Amino acid sequence: MDLDYSPSERAFQAEVRAWLAKNLAPSLAEKVRRGQHLQKSDIEGWHATLNSRGWLAPHWPVEYGGTGWSPVQRHIFEEECCRAYAPRVVPFGLSMLAPVLIKYGNDAQKNHWLPRILDGSDWWCQGYSEPGAGSDLASLQMRAVREGDHYILNGQKTWTTLGQFANMIFCLVRTSNEGKRQEGISFIMVDMSTPGVEVRPIILLEGTHEVNDVFFTDVRVPVENRVGEENKGWTYAKYLLTYERTNIAGIGFSMVAMDELKAIAADQRRAGRPLAEDPLFAARMARAEIALENARIANLRILSEAAEGGAPGVESSMLKIKGTEIRQEIDSLKRQALGAYAAPFLPDAFEPGFNGPNVGPDYAAPIARQYFNNRKISIFGGSNEIQKNIISKMMLGL
Ligand SMILES: Cc1cc2nc3c(=O)[nH]c(=O)nc-3n(C[C@H](O)[C@H](O)[C@H](O)COP(=O)(O)OP(=O)(O)OC[C@H]3O[C@@H](n4cnc5c(N)ncnc54)[C@H](O)[C@@H]3O)c2cc1C
Repeated sequence: MDLDYSPSERAFQAEVRAWLAKNLAPSLAEKVRRGQHLQKSDIEGWHATLNSRGWLAPHWPVEYGGTGWSPVQRHIFEEECCRAYAPRVVPFGLSMLAPVLIKYGNDAQKNHWLPRILDGSDWWCQGYSEPGAGSDLASLQMRAVREGDHYILNGQKTWTTLGQFANMIFCLVRTSNEGKRQEGISFIMVDMSTPGVEVRPIILLEGTHEVNDVFFTDVRVPVENRVGEENKGWTYAKYLLTYERTNIAGIGFSMVAMDELKAIAADQRRAGRPLAEDPLFAARMARAEIALENARIANLRILSEAAEGGAPGVESSMLKIKGTEIRQEIDSLKRQALGAYAAPFLPDAFEPGFNGPNVGPDYAAPIARQYFNNRKISIFGGSNEIQKNIISKMMLGL
């Protein structure tokens, strides 16, 4: 098996690299590299730049605006974007809702909502979790009661990532209490400017406003905003989650983080020698790098299979577990490599325009914050324990 890129893939890589060098503003890349807070306009601007080149939705079918790239090209593109420190594209519309609409939406929904995702008219967020429904998502309680041409929504969603920027939310709602719990759920799209929708911030461990509670009080939603059939939402919800999990693995992020770790370990010294030469530290770095290479190949295999046969299946659970474990291990090694410099927390260092003194080397500021923030990746999209349950049932037949 030849794991090197072919000449045409190398040419593609060079094309992407050159385009990024020309189109990604150095000031924006620097913000991302330094882990600074991005403004809504930063994220929207990058979304528009990618869209103007037709590179915003590589995983969509060509007829809806996809690129037609092979899985290897998609991987190269993701890797190059990470290496260039491009902002992360917000996945809720592009990578979660869109595959559901493409597979289960009606023509009117596809024609209306997909172009709006591409041109940035709508910023979507995800309303799955509730205070009493996380891992056990099927226990969700938010009600949608049919009243003529509308559903009336009452309840609460929580952990809603970037809900403060969103104008649209897709929700799992309970439309029936009969039969199995999974059989009474519907998938519905809600305009967040509808009266009765209220977004309240939740502040994370490291001080950022990234997630929210969203409350719904007598919110009227047109029936045409339901995707697919009433009470069949569980099927669509699970389909969406396979895409979400494949994204969370974040192989491209880990590849960049691994390079950063090597640079830090070469720069930091222990007992008069570069830390990279410490046998225990070097062995841990090597283990992480080997795991990353394995995950990279697995990612390509899963993408190839998905390209031929539709959605990534239960393999997305494997990839999520390994990918997030690797990211967290690299975060942990970076923090360990910095020693005492990982301890100070300078909130101002994450504000755009910060040029105050650093504590320790200039790469130190974001490391502890990334470590704490990335505790989330083994939780959201279904915790890693839940992924193990899925693997044991679906793959091992236990
Ligand atoms: C930063 C962040 C952002 C998020 N963004 C979103 C979002 O945008 N939209 C959204 O809908 N949700 C979002 N979530 C919610 C996320 O999907 C849930 O947190 C996750 O599914 C876990 O649910 P829970 O928090 O209720 O934990 P619980 O379900 O209460 O689980 C607690 C612990 O018990 C373990 N556990 C539970 N059941 C089992 C079991 N059967 N077997 C083994 N172990 C088990 C879990 O693994 C976990 O360690 C986000 C979460 C975080 C932290």
